Amino acid sequence: MPNCENCGQKWPWKTVVKNTVKLSNKTKCPYCEKTQYLIPKSRKRTAIFSYMPAFLIITLTLILDLDGWGIFFLAAALMIVFLGLYPFMMKLSNDDHMPTYKMQ
Ligand SMILES: [Zn+2]
Repeated sequence: MPNCENCGQKWPWKTVVKNTVKLSNKTKCPYCEKTQYLIPKSRKRTAIFSYMPAFLIITLTLILDLDGWGIFFLAAALMIVFLGLYPFMMKLSNDDHMPTYKMQ
């Protein structure tokens, strides 16, 4: 779970996920109110992470011979799992070190 670079407090999972859903990488620390930037721990890992759900959906659809609702529920379940894991891949920073980084 990411720690605030300013005060060192661990952010709650909920705060990180809320920002992920809002597609924002800039947010105020709930403890010290200083603006923090969410940056990926490693760019490579985040890239793999963004392609993984799509890859899994396609593979599992073919293996399990799913259609319609099956694919829908599989996609929804994977999204919940990945959203749950996402905060562990992120790190907080006082500055936006990667202005070119785009949230996907
Ligand atoms: Zn803080």
